[in-house]
Amino acid sequence: MNQADSTVVSATSAPTMMQRPLLISSLIEHAAKNFGDTEIVSRTIDGAGHAGIHRYNYRDANRRAKQLANALKHLGVVRGDRIATLAWNGYRHFELYYGVSGMGAIIHTVNPRLFPEQIAYIINHAEDKFLFVDVTFVPLIEALVATSVAASAPSLKSLKGIVVMTDRAHMPSAKIDNLICYEDLLSAEADDFVWPQFDENTPSGLCYTSGTTGNPKGVLYTHRSTIFYTYAAMSPECFCLSSQSVVLPIVPMFHVNAWGLPYIAAAAGSKLVFPGAALDGASLYQLFEQEEVTASAGVPTVWLGLINYLKTHGLKFSTFKETVIGGSAVPPAMLRTLELDFGITVLHGWGMTEMSPLGTLNRLRGKHLKLSVEEQLVIKARQGAPVFGMELEIWDGDGKPLPHDGHAFGDLVVRSPWVLERYFKDARSALINGWLPTGDVANIDADGIMQITDRSKDVIKSGGEWISSIELENIAMAHPAVFEAAVIGRAHPKWDERPLLIVVKKPNTELGAEELLKFFDGKIAKWMLPNAVEFVPQLPHTATGKLLKTKLRDDFRAFKFAD
Ligand code: AMP
Repeated sequence: MNQADSTVVSATSAPTMMQRPLLISSLIEHAAKNFGDTEIVSRTIDGAGHAGIHRYNYRDANRRAKQLANALKHLGVVRGDRIATLAWNGYRHFELYYGVSGMGAIIHTVNPRLFPEQIAYIINHAEDKFLFVDVTFVPLIEALVATSVAASAPSLKSLKGIVVMTDRAHMPSAKIDNLICYEDLLSAEADDFVWPQFDENTPSGLCYTSGTTGNPKGVLYTHRSTIFYTYAAMSPECFCLSSQSVVLPIVPMFHVNAWGLPYIAAAAGSKLVFPGAALDGASLYQLFEQEEVTASAGVPTVWLGLINYLKTHGLKFSTFKETVIGGSAVPPAMLRTLELDFGITVLHGWGMTEMSPLGTLNRLRGKHLKLSVEEQLVIKARQGAPVFGMELEIWDGDGKPLPHDGHAFGDLVVRSPWVLERYFKDARSALINGWLPTGDVANIDADGIMQITDRSKDVIKSGGEWISSIELENIAMAHPAVFEAAVIGRAHPKWDERPLLIVVKKPNTELGAEELLKFFDGKIAKWMLPNAVEFVPQLPHTATGKLLKTKLRDDFRAFKFAD
């Protein structure tokens, strides 16, 4: 190589291409400038109950997100501050996504379905400065504040204020002092805010995973990871959204950013339809038809409700064409019903909070189109292939890669610019040799299409939420008559899975299922309670004394819940 060549390829010379940072504000600016009159429709939460519909467009959303950014600045919010939300899918939540991240702060979407103590833990751990709540969740916050005052515990200690996401007319009469009204906050501000430019590695959003052990852990997304994810997820092999799409995210904005749809829709210029709190079959169907929805996304449980409603009333969709379903495995019967009875293309997706969340999506390849419908359904039941930018491997117990032959299965590991490196406030990397272990066990075929065969964690997936088996076991084990307890998930027709508690009693003790379940009262959220209790003489263990849950699952394979 001569002198001239080395100058041309030198990495230290001035960049030859622009160094524009990848920032979330660029998404809403793009949508406002190029798809300004594209609608954002929301079923309202305040005021008119579920019947109310709010309509505006990307231009309005950008303007109001800028007013919000100005308001945050005047409230003393600075770059890096965490701003929590407890809110449904709606236009004000959408404005927070852009106003908060756009001004350099971090939006922390809290899952209201968590046990109140976990919510308090998360808000304290994140050191959230302000909390924005839908009117629906004001009683939840009231209870949290009241409990902490009664116990003189410094709960929610970092909060400087609570903003209710409504207008003056619908402000609730709460017991908490100095609640701020969202619309008052915005109306006091101009929309002249200029989105600042800063390092693309600046954190933009925070989501906590409901971990299997211990407390929830925070995943801190950055502007860069979010923009990379957006490009990948909007692509034809993935969500395939465009300005011709009308997308209704059923997956909540408090659940891994509604799988990125508030960002993806803005990038693609798609019309957005937000369902608010009304996630029942009748309300969803009405919105799908009225707004001419073409695409959606949600966990299997919500589709069960919608399918039941359609079947009971003999209804069909007019415009709705395809949906991503993930969060837990799509039951084959649901896949068949949606595809064959309703003509909806089901895109089975897999991912994790740690992955922003999408890792794989299952869209049929060109070569699959010639296959029979039955053969296609078998492929569609798999969790899919990684989109460009995401890499998957399966490892054996020693961390050695296994072949992608569709048979060998092992620990699934991933790497990508939108995958977590370390948890929030944790100094240790979560990676092994540069890869993130997912805790799932999978096989990968020669086309790169992956299938989850098991999970190394034993959490119970109920209606898209996680229930920690260890947490339930720990409570059961605290009962004086319990010798040992194990919890496994068993299939449930409505909730995917529900917990089954399996117990060995101490010798010479009396204990019934009802009494044991009563013991859980007040110790855990009601929806996490085991659905049934079985008493056995002993539990199976591994050589190192751990519970052998694979054996238990086999033993109780035929078990059916009564309800
Ligand atoms: P979360 O972080 O709450 O989104 O949960 C991530 C976990 O959900 C994954 O590690 C899987 O165990 C499970 N999961 C997500 N999608 C699927 C799917 N399509 N099939 C089976 N399990 C899934």
